[in-house]
Amino acid sequence: MTPIHLFNSLSKQKEIFVPKNEGHVSMYHCGPTVYNYAHIGNLRAYIATDILRRVFEFNDYSVSQIMNITDIGHLQHDDTDDGDDKMTLALRRENMELTRENMKLIALKYFDAFRADIERVNIQPANLYPFASDHIEDDISFIQILLDKGSAYATGDGIYFDTTSLAEYGRLGGISVDDAHTESRIGEAEIAKSKKKNIRDFALWKFNDTLGYDASFGKGFPGWHIECSVMSMKYLGGLKEFMGDWQNFETFDVHTGGVDHIPVHHNNEIAQTEAISGKPLAKYWLHNAHLIIEGGKKMAKSGEAFITLQTLEDKGISPLGFRYWVLGAGYRTPLQFSFEALESAERSYVNLVTRIGHIRNNIKNENMTMLSQNESLARFKSLINDDLNTPQALAFLYDIINNPAIDGVDKLHIIEEADKVFGLDLMDKSKEIENALKENLVVSDEISELAEKRVEAKEIKDWDTADKIREQIAALGYEIHDVNDGYYFTKKKLI
Ligand SMILES: [Zn+2]
Repeated sequence: MTPIHLFNSLSKQKEIFVPKNEGHVSMYHCGPTVYNYAHIGNLRAYIATDILRRVFEFNDYSVSQIMNITDIGHLQHDDTDDGDDKMTLALRRENMELTRENMKLIALKYFDAFRADIERVNIQPANLYPFASDHIEDDISFIQILLDKGSAYATGDGIYFDTTSLAEYGRLGGISVDDAHTESRIGEAEIAKSKKKNIRDFALWKFNDTLGYDASFGKGFPGWHIECSVMSMKYLGGLKEFMGDWQNFETFDVHTGGVDHIPVHHNNEIAQTEAISGKPLAKYWLHNAHLIIEGGKKMAKSGEAFITLQTLEDKGISPLGFRYWVLGAGYRTPLQFSFEALESAERSYVNLVTRIGHIRNNIKNENMTMLSQNESLARFKSLINDDLNTPQALAFLYDIINNPAIDGVDKLHIIEEADKVFGLDLMDKSKEIENALKENLVVSDEISELAEKRVEAKEIKDWDTADKIREQIAALGYEIHDVNDGYYFTKKKLI
């Protein structure tokens, strides 16, 4: 068995993955705050978690995968417990009255859009997408226990977690000396306003008389951090007949998020969970790097460079071309965004599919030589098991395709297996090319001439003529498809 090595942010090194329960993995991903469409930086993060799941499955693990949906309580400045709730901002932006019902409507709208986006980039759906607003009673019971234990206290504006009540706060680190300096400046005003005791204490509950939920300790909203502890522990923590028995929680396997979650959100999730159960929240913490825009900043929903899958498609970059681009870098490497890079990735993706289509079309010998397959797949597994090394694994796939000593049938089998991890639809897409290549042979001279005329029209950007020729070809029973360096036909469906 080839071990899986994963970079654990807790130990800051690669560790051999050993699940709590043999043959099974439990993992939790901090999901989107559904107050707007997902940008491609968000999708990059979830492609990474999708690859993680696929690698586990490739290694014959069954996987329980939970991704929460934040539809309440996520403040603009989650590091200082300050600013407006992001859902409230969305209601204002869309001119909707500020009610809890409308918050849910907004959440469902953007959740649906999110599900459609992840489907288009071949991210497999999680087992469950729990919504934060459906877990308020759980949040309240959790906070009440923390209050009873003396790990939390009330101020004029909310309930705060007392970070000095834990022997070790900030297990994941990421709290640098520089931050301490900045925080001490923000801190004084912040402490004065919230009346919290220590700079690193954070809100579990923020009071809100108008829209808030009823709780014995005061009407309000849960904080973003408590929501994640509650949902991950409830669904993955072995609390079978859950009766608010947080103390019986058992550590689960993997927790993921963006690197920006390390210093505040994840340190706080860990603190809450350890305070209530005395156990670590998760055994392995994985963090993906960001998608970087011009000026070195990360892409953000509130920023100017807000690029969605639709933006890419409008420029001729397909969702799977985008996925191919993402896989070209390791998940812990920041990805520098540019349209040029994505256009180039789209061309490479189409070329890859086209080459596989040619391999399919040229197969003569149906016999497989299992030996070369087994060796190749073992090599592929060792690459992808090395902390999800997708760039190396992709390079290996090209080596296989380029190797004249490997038979076409063997190549196809290796590609099919590898694509269980890549999720690039290589087999289905290349089948289309193969079909087109086979049909191409029987296209009449008349159609070939029309196609060449269409190429000339496109070269001088005479789109009207190009479209008219496409219709003429269609009338003759064929559809013409453009690829990187040419075109191919498929038979038009007559019914
Ligand atoms: Zn979270």
